Amino acid sequence: MEKKTKILATVGPSSDSVDILEGMIRAGVNVFRLNFSHGSHEYHSQTFNNIKEAEKRVGKRVGILQDLCGPKIRVGKLKYDFELRQDDLVEFHIKPIEGEKTGEGRYRLSINQPQILSLLKVGELIYLYDGNIQTKVVETNDDFITAQVHNFGRLSSNKGVNFPNTKINIGVITEKDKSDLAWGVAHQVDFIAISFVQRKEDILYAKELLKQNGGNAHVFAKIEKFDAVENIDDILEASDGLMVARGDLGIEVPYYKVPSIQKSIIKKANAASKPIITATQMLLSMTEKETATRAEISDVANAVLDGTDAVMLSEESAIGKNPINVVETMSNTIKETEKIYNYNKFSNVAFFDETDVIASSTGMLAQRLDVKAIISITGSGKSAKKMARYRIKNDIYAVCHDERVARSLTIAWGIEPILVIEKSTLNGMLGATFTNALKSGWIDQEHTYILTAGYPAGIEGSTNFIRIVKKSEIDYLASLEA
Ligand code: ATP
Ligand code: MG
Ligand code: MG
Repeated sequence: MEKKTKILATVGPSSDSVDILEGMIRAGVNVFRLNFSHGSHEYHSQTFNNIKEAEKRVGKRVGILQDLCGPKIRVGKLKYDFELRQDDLVEFHIKPIEGEKTGEGRYRLSINQPQILSLLKVGELIYLYDGNIQTKVVETNDDFITAQVHNFGRLSSNKGVNFPNTKINIGVITEKDKSDLAWGVAHQVDFIAISFVQRKEDILYAKELLKQNGGNAHVFAKIEKFDAVENIDDILEASDGLMVARGDLGIEVPYYKVPSIQKSIIKKANAASKPIITATQMLLSMTEKETATRAEISDVANAVLDGTDAVMLSEESAIGKNPINVVETMSNTIKETEKIYNYNKFSNVAFFDETDVIASSTGMLAQRLDVKAIISITGSGKSAKKMARYRIKNDIYAVCHDERVARSLTIAWGIEPILVIEKSTLNGMLGATFTNALKSGWIDQEHTYILTAGYPAGIEGSTNFIRIVKKSEIDYLASLEA
């Protein structure tokens, strides 16, 4: 395996063609993110098809994560980008208007949830573009409020707006999210990320909606609200995975708390063997430049060392100058950092059940015998994730019975979902696995492997079989029949 930490990349106008997507997969993308804050269903359907085509060309599974926009407040359409400078005045209009410059240092625009404007008072702050541009309310009237700009920044259409001092109560799943979720189910996306989650009930509600629509995607909670940090244990329990969404999080909590929150949440997710994504501004300057800053490279490296399952690209790959180059930069940083990774964390995590004991014993055995890889025949993917939880240095190949399960592992640290076989007798599954392994070349006959399986097949978390596979036995195993 080239690298253990996975890469998610947001697809947008600069990366939505089959050629670029193909290049990005070859450079190391494991999961593509479709951000439903931007683009129509038609746009995303086209992108979806392009991803499937690129995946076919490369011949490697890539997952698809649908990010629901949630009640995010955004700037409306601007006729052109605003070059905002200190002390400029911006009017936020209640009536929808196209944003424009109205005079020297004066601009006007509207936002997608104008009812919020009536809650604002003079002296309160309005942040634009994920907190990049800070403004303060200086005047209010019935038609618009006026805010004064504190710092230089370039604003374009549809960028996020935050009101850090104003209490706003809006539901986490909007009507648009419901229709987007139905799109996700119809397209069988692998993961659905819920924005602005505050409590576990938000995730339970999302899962209920998903079920009503007949979907079974894994549900990820985006941690970007103060309340989500407070309720993290319950939210983690209800979710299939988490995303530390540092953009909005850094506005909701003091910016200097983001690194400690990131580390603490990663630890919790690792302990629960649930995948966690670290997101936002990882290589941001590469949106416009060919190289990243030293600080950004360190940020990626540190997230890897913190134990994140995946690191994510947003603007960098959606609207950036050179998405393939960005992915290469991320991959190179991951690979180098993994050379000094603290593998085999057997003592770091508590045991919860029998599967944990089996997973850690398998990992230790793999170390002692210095095997080339662990092959895990896994029904729900849980056994493989539990092994990966110990950050085992040996490769983990997951053999699944269901394409959906195999895809759900594209996001998990250190696991390569390599093969889907039918459930059958133990001999039948061994035969199918080793026949394919030899034919496709993902094992060789020079090394020892460990194979784990649950037998009888199909019971979740039932791994009860550990077999050491010596090189001399591989031909025999491949010859087994059901
Ligand atoms: P979120 O809060 O969900 O992260 P965002 O606006 O920050 O929303 P990102 O996906 O993080 O979005 O960044 C991608 C940027 O690329 C967006 O801000 C937007 O300006 C731009 N963009 C334009 N079209 C698209 C698209 N179809 N998909 C994603 N991003 C797009
Ligand atoms: Mg967001
Ligand atoms: Mg973002």
